[in-house]
Amino acid sequence: RTVYVNGDYLPEDQAKVSIFDRGFLFADGVYEVTSVLDGKLIDFAGHAKRLQRSMDELDMTAAIDMDELLEIHRELVRVNDITDGLIYLQVTRGAADRDFLYPAEDTPPTVVLFTQAKPGLADSPMAETGMKVVTIPDRRWGRRDIKTVQLLYPSMGKMEAKAQGADDAWMVEEGAVTEGTSNNAYIVKDGVIVTRHLGEEILHGITRKAVLAFAREAQMKVDERAFTVEEALAADEAFVTSASSFVMPVVSIDGQQIGTGTPGKTVARLREIYLEEMRKAAV
Ligand code: PMP
Repeated sequence: RTVYVNGDYLPEDQAKVSIFDRGFLFADGVYEVTSVLDGKLIDFAGHAKRLQRSMDELDMTAAIDMDELLEIHRELVRVNDITDGLIYLQVTRGAADRDFLYPAEDTPPTVVLFTQAKPGLADSPMAETGMKVVTIPDRRWGRRDIKTVQLLYPSMGKMEAKAQGADDAWMVEEGAVTEGTSNNAYIVKDGVIVTRHLGEEILHGITRKAVLAFAREAQMKVDERAFTVEEALAADEAFVTSASSFVMPVVSIDGQQIGTGTPGKTVARLREIYLEEMRKAAV
């Protein structure tokens, strides 16, 4: 693979960052994952906007030129010959001698991008079978709306899910589901799509925003509010959204089947609309 690091395109084994990088020492960095379908980027504008917001919220003052960033994404798709896959982007506050206080504002950020080829990304068999989730307590920090590289707890959650024979975990705080370890969580009850309202408790998913807009356009009812695990267990359907899974059905929670135990109609329709519209709008 050819990867990008601080202005250079390099073979992956020659790309290096400092051991003093604040991303490495303090998880002082933010990231985005953008999907590629048919060689084109899905919702790049949404990811670029959220990247800027994450940086602003952390007072990361480095100027990132979003047009240039788009060109880097496209170049990596081209040189790595990616048809379907993902592009990972990370920006950290840069390298400086270890100190909790932020370094001088003119410290150059570290900007890294790499591709992951995922042939058939939009035809995942899981979209047909649905996924199994387990619930775990949400033990992350309080600013989950900022897309930082602090992914240890989500990583632990996925390990716990795997240990229980499931595919992923939904995190629960004060009885209510916040989100999945790497996706936003939804239930459908009596025709109403319910997903947690935006706030500091969840990541403001780029896929979530698009899916809810498509749902409303299709005259589906949407209720943005917290929901409990009990409500989820009694729901007709459940699903998750993310840039890498798009819209993915959930068919069981903590070993209990949801609805019929097979992917529901609402989720199937939303997945179809999302993929069709986003392919059209891809850059
Ligand atoms: N929540 C969390 C915790 C995530 O890590 C992700 C994936 N980035 C999402 C939600 C979904 O966000 P998006 O649709 O922007 O990929």
